[in-house]
Amino acid sequence: MKKGSIVKNVLKFLNHYFVFFLLVAFVITCCTMLFVSMLSLSLEITLSESDISAAAKLTFLNVALLSLIFTIVDIIRRKRTVEQPVKSITNAAERIIKGDFSVRVKPLGRLGIDENFNRIIDCFNKMAEELGGVETLRNDFIANVSHEMKTPLSVIQNYGTLLQAPDLSDEKRIEYAKGITDGSRRLADMMTNILKLNRLENQQIYPQKTEFDLGEQLCECLLQYESVWEKSNIEIETDIAEEVIVNADAELLSHVWSNLFSNAFKFTPNGGKVSVSLTATEHHATVKVADTGCGMTKEVGDHIFEKFYQGDASRSVQGNGLGLALVKRVVDIMQGEIGVESAVGKGTTFTVRIRRS
Ligand code: ADP
Repeated sequence: MKKGSIVKNVLKFLNHYFVFFLLVAFVITCCTMLFVSMLSLSLEITLSESDISAAAKLTFLNVALLSLIFTIVDIIRRKRTVEQPVKSITNAAERIIKGDFSVRVKPLGRLGIDENFNRIIDCFNKMAEELGGVETLRNDFIANVSHEMKTPLSVIQNYGTLLQAPDLSDEKRIEYAKGITDGSRRLADMMTNILKLNRLENQQIYPQKTEFDLGEQLCECLLQYESVWEKSNIEIETDIAEEVIVNADAELLSHVWSNLFSNAFKFTPNGGKVSVSLTATEHHATVKVADTGCGMTKEVGDHIFEKFYQGDASRSVQGNGLGLALVKRVVDIMQGEIGVESAVGKGTTFTVRIRRS
């Protein structure tokens, strides 16, 4: 132990001792004075000076001894009930500062422990758990973004190398340049989605409500995929109720439909069918986007709204697993509901229910 801390502890001890000394001296003096005056009154005894002096010395010794006992007992009590819990909480906090979020403090079961300590420990453990969760999410996020960036980046790199070859035919040059454009578009799309999702999660986007015809919006969004369904020979079926006016953020909602349509076309093979329907009640509008594509297992269905989740681990279908996370966030912000029904090899139906105003 350092010299400074020994002096500090001695001073602390003396301070404690002095407080108890005063307390005990006061109590014993009062009791003795009361006892002596009662005794001399009832027995009519007059004490000589030497008797008084001997009694005073004995009383002083008693006071000193009792104070010492009280001080030691109090120090032990404080060590067990205050200093030890504070020390274990401080040690755990220091480990958290160093980045170890696995630390937990054991609840105290000892007699005489202030219950407030257990409440602090409980809050502390919950805080450590939350921090650990956030840290895992942050690490996963970085790992996912880096992973998703690698594929388009290496595609761009490869095509760039190929473009450097001399005597390249026009046809090849155009093919390689297209590869670079596609790769960079994938990267740009991913970045846009990450930024959008981040802003949605941090509540930086406030829905700008306007009144518009939901059926018209669905048709406009669907028409953007005309070239895709024509190329893949996919049949389109629509059953869209007329004049379903909603009061919502049109731009945010268009992201929902675009993502659902893009997935439906992406996961439906040539010759399949995509159906879109819109029904409405007085207060709600329900949109269903169904396809006859590959479908998904229940296990996949349970995770599709998570960031970066892709059902196909081989990543044979292009994507980055952000689309449905974005869709879910928008639907949540609009206090709507989204559900999915799917059967492997048969198809998938997404149902979105939003309030009309
Ligand atoms: P991405 O499509 O970019 O991979 P999404 O978040 O849009 O990311 O979708 C996550 C996963 O959900 C997809 O990888 C796929 O496994 C599954 N999924 C989404 N829509 C469909 C669909 N219509 N049919 C089958 N699987 C789907």
